[in-house]
Amino acid sequence: MAIRALQALSEEKAEALFKYQALFDSNMLAIACTDFNDSILDANDAFLSMLGYSREDLEAGALRWSTISPARYNKEDIIKMNELLQHKTIVPFEKEYIHKDGRAVPVLVGAEAFDAEISFGVCFALDISEMKELERKKDDFIGLVSHELKTPLAIMKLQSEFLRAAIVTGSKKEQMEFAKEIEEHVDKLGILISDLLNMARYHSAEYAPNFSAVDLGDIAQKVVHDLSLYHDMRAITCEAKGRVYVRGNGERLSQVLINLVNNAVRYSPQEEAIDVRAYKEGDMAILEVTDKGIGIDREDAERIFERYYRVNNADKHKEAAGLGLYVCSEIVKQHKGKIEVLSKKGKGSTFRIVLPRVA
Ligand code: ADP
Repeated sequence: MAIRALQALSEEKAEALFKYQALFDSNMLAIACTDFNDSILDANDAFLSMLGYSREDLEAGALRWSTISPARYNKEDIIKMNELLQHKTIVPFEKEYIHKDGRAVPVLVGAEAFDAEISFGVCFALDISEMKELERKKDDFIGLVSHELKTPLAIMKLQSEFLRAAIVTGSKKEQMEFAKEIEEHVDKLGILISDLLNMARYHSAEYAPNFSAVDLGDIAQKVVHDLSLYHDMRAITCEAKGRVYVRGNGERLSQVLINLVNNAVRYSPQEEAIDVRAYKEGDMAILEVTDKGIGIDREDAERIFERYYRVNNADKHKEAAGLGLYVCSEIVKQHKGKIEVLSKKGKGSTFRIVLPRVA
């Protein structure tokens, strides 16, 4: 590391630098050697790739702190330099760097000086873009959920007042109408709350479901039977070929199927049937749900299993929070399987779960 920089170092600094050699070479962290002025004397591959620079750029002196640090951090950078002067280290803090292509890269940055004059040391950075993106989605999600919880509650309050008025006037027709509307909103809230609870459960360390041999054909038949009663206007067919055993938790797998069928109901027209199939394919067990609904375009299809991801076309299904498929994919992962979607915009979708089969 830092051959050029090392040659100019005292024995004491070189020894201190040696501590960081393995970490520098491992590229687990982005590390740069610096004179704590504007120069970056050397940087590992992780540092260069994080900011889109090449080794040639570095050698040509194109990589400088003043180039990669946004001006809005100047004040904070001065405070951090004072911290370095006092303690020879900077406790990691969050800021942003500027990528060569101009975009901001959120990072967690720390530094250590190797001498009292603060003329040489290392600066290390961790790219926290993903964490920040997740935080942003979480904030959006909390906003969305609060709204989704509040709106049906407000509507139900109003409808229950109407219901009371209808009881006074004695209009049976209106009483039925308002009671039905209240029920619909209760259902929407139910979906939302159960998605939230499920997500919380999968993130809890205590969650460890019991696994045993379960028949996907059995699960498919039971779920289709129950949901056909619930969605009594929908045709939901079930084709289960032979015994399709996997090692897993029947309750969790049923829940995956319930989510997929409920989505199929939500995102396809009432007159179209939904088909559920369970069958063997070599060593694998397959569980599929097909609808002839609105479909999903390719870009969205790649992302719908992410937490909080929703497709714009889902606007009219506002009770949805973009959690159902994420929970499904987490359960399928726990079963060492995969979940995928084959879909054509406007034609429909097939959600397919592939799990290792047991005898
Ligand atoms: P949501 O609770 O928003 O439905 P999901 O995670 O279950 O969340 O689904 C994510 C997004 O995927 C939905 O917002 C919807 O746009 C899309 N989606 C899910 N299932 C289907 C389907 N069968 N057909 C079309 N789009 C679907």
